Amino acid sequence: MKGYDYYKPDTIEEAMKMMSTLDGAEYIAGGTDVMVLIKKKALSPQNLISLRNISELSYIDTDNGLRIGSGVTHSRISESDFIKRHYSALFDAVSNIGSVQVRNVGTVGGNICNAAPSADTLCPFLVFDAVVLIAGQKGEYQLAIDDFLLGPNRVALAKGEIVKGINLPALGANSGSAYIKHTRRKAMELPIVGIAARIDIDAKGHPNDWKEAFRRIDDISDMLRLLEKERFVCNDARIAMGVVAPRPIRAKKAESALQGKVISEGLLDEIGRIAASESQPRDTLRGEAWYRREMVHVLTKRAVLMALERMIHADSSNNPKTS
Ligand SMILES: Cc1cc2nc3c(=O)[nH]c(=O)nc-3n(C[C@H](O)[C@H](O)[C@H](O)COP(=O)(O)OP(=O)(O)OC[C@H]3O[C@@H](n4cnc5c(N)ncnc54)[C@H](O)[C@@H]3O)c2cc1C
Repeated sequence: MKGYDYYKPDTIEEAMKMMSTLDGAEYIAGGTDVMVLIKKKALSPQNLISLRNISELSYIDTDNGLRIGSGVTHSRISESDFIKRHYSALFDAVSNIGSVQVRNVGTVGGNICNAAPSADTLCPFLVFDAVVLIAGQKGEYQLAIDDFLLGPNRVALAKGEIVKGINLPALGANSGSAYIKHTRRKAMELPIVGIAARIDIDAKGHPNDWKEAFRRIDDISDMLRLLEKERFVCNDARIAMGVVAPRPIRAKKAESALQGKVISEGLLDEIGRIAASESQPRDTLRGEAWYRREMVHVLTKRAVLMALERMIHADSSNNPKTS
């Protein structure tokens, strides 16, 4: 391995200044992607600028939505009961990244900037309509996560720019979400397919305590039947799919097909089928295209179901289920 110099600035400004003056420099946060590339000789920086000392990148703010600094580790996010309860899809994603060791140092900023097609946080961020906060030479600006992701390992950052954080809008009381990472093993595995779903229910015309009747139901099929019988309508929905295209994508036709419809088992099956038709998977060592498409069908339906179940349980004393 070639040597490099290592810098630890304390502020974003200082880091950006170093980047503009040092030759062959790269930012490093947790280093769980960067160091792998250096070891594989796919990256040979002369200088590494660590972002780990920059305290302004390590906030979690839950006032009116969710704002997460790019330097926050996956472990820290997974310790937040607020995120588990209200942004469950993100909780699911960070709780299953790599191993404890990887989660303890790997950051959310590193995950989105590395932009692997299999990056676990990207599908949740897509379903939450996340906005990326960027510090650039001309000041701060924001980009929707959908516009930030350009392709495999490619993001819309100009040389030297730093992702400061990720902002997620506040969610309504009748909103639930889930992320399913489909893998062969439980740990240290990238997804064969990853599916995130968020669904908002229109509860207008139903009693204020409508969730109580649902909380008495154990069986998920019975929950679906009651939603259909009581004519609960999907107000808004997001579905995102990972490892089925060069970058994680939204299943926009499936989302539209859910919008304004009465929730039913037949509808969820149809949504899964539409999402599968929108996926563009390839054959790879981890899974063949036909299999991935099949799993998109099954897991989209399952992710929407989990999201519905959590929406019903989110404000009860029970924590939302996570499996
Ligand atoms: C054993 C192992 C298992 C893994 N398992 C998973 C997994 O299951 N799921 C998954 O999604 N990933 C996995 N990863 C990949 C990796 O851990 C994650 O992508 C992690 O979130 C990267 O964060 P980091 O802080 O380590 O990034 P780094 O390696 O420090 O940086 C990654 C890239 O982002 C840039 N960068 C970092 N922060 C910023 C910033 N604030 N502004 C601008 N650029 C920035 C760096 O310059 C670099 O290009 C695994 C990695 C390993 C080694």
